[in-house]
Amino acid sequence: MKITRPVYFEKFACIADRCPDTCCAGWDIVIDGESLEKYGSLSSPYGDKIRSLITADGDGESIFAAQGNRCPFLLDSGLCEMYKEIGHENLCLTCRKFPRFTNAFGARLEEGLSLSCPEAARLIFESDEPAALVSKETDGAIIPSDFDAELYFTLLAARKKAIDILQQRKFSVEHRICAFLEFSQALQQLIKEDCLEKAAFLSAEFFLSHEHTYSQTKAKRALNRFSADFSTLEFIRPDFGDKLRNIECVDMQGFVAPDWEYEQLMIYFIFRYFITAAYDGDVLTKAKFAAVSVIAVKRLHAALGALTKEQRTDISQKYSKEIEHCSDNLDYLFRSMKKSRYYGTENLINILSEGEKA
Ligand code: SF4
Repeated sequence: MKITRPVYFEKFACIADRCPDTCCAGWDIVIDGESLEKYGSLSSPYGDKIRSLITADGDGESIFAAQGNRCPFLLDSGLCEMYKEIGHENLCLTCRKFPRFTNAFGARLEEGLSLSCPEAARLIFESDEPAALVSKETDGAIIPSDFDAELYFTLLAARKKAIDILQQRKFSVEHRICAFLEFSQALQQLIKEDCLEKAAFLSAEFFLSHEHTYSQTKAKRALNRFSADFSTLEFIRPDFGDKLRNIECVDMQGFVAPDWEYEQLMIYFIFRYFITAAYDGDVLTKAKFAAVSVIAVKRLHAALGALTKEQRTDISQKYSKEIEHCSDNLDYLFRSMKKSRYYGTENLINILSEGEKA
């Protein structure tokens, strides 16, 4: 089995009671079947407490429901009571794994850290070195997965090229994201035409050499649609939702932050989503989600006056927690980006080109 991870993955250690935004805040915890069985047969008095806190959500899944926006096992000290009472190995899968995520492709696994964890976010933005992925052979059972193997290998090579485009630092990050979107659009067309063998001929230099025209009207219209879409989402922190709903009104003139931070953010989204198109053939929507997220996060940074890297990291983490970790929010945005013409590549390029001229 081959496993691929970002270079910072191994450095992660949960900071527990020092965490400014524990993973237990704001979320219901879905309980996997194996843990549910284990909790059902726990004979200690603590087993009774666990069982009394299991409820079902609207989809009929067993959960530990948040109480007053906190996990019922989260102590005032910021530590987990269940961890103290029955140990890490008996936590449910969600809690044992978080913030690690896995994408499985048969004998190949990809593992990353979710930006929604503050300590993972710190690691993602720790270094201005271009982000790298490391692969190694390891033991482990193959996870059965229903993906298109030929498309997977095409996407693997395409992702390398996409990362190369996004790390060409002689261009502004906005220009690189525009080039990446055009590259993804060309790749999507080849997938649609079933011409995967031609993907190897897509040239990073070609897409980077394009100049982009800019229409303020089209950029405004598209931003207006983003704001409308963000208005329909659910937020753990309503004030954060209000800021996101108003990103169309943010004046970007005068806001300055290092390009490399937005490059790392793009690479994070590309690593997490791009290659999952091997399951559904839709790489362009994943590319758009990455670009829209970077546009939204940068606008939030400007709106909230994030002058330091720590402030910008904190806002990026909160965006991830609100958007990536609410499946309803994520599903809604992916659907909208797939269908609505306002999320067309040309419109996204218009918004990014405005950033280039700021
Ligand atoms: S959010 Fe991250 S650092 Fe904080 S408690 Fe959870 S895993 Fe630990």
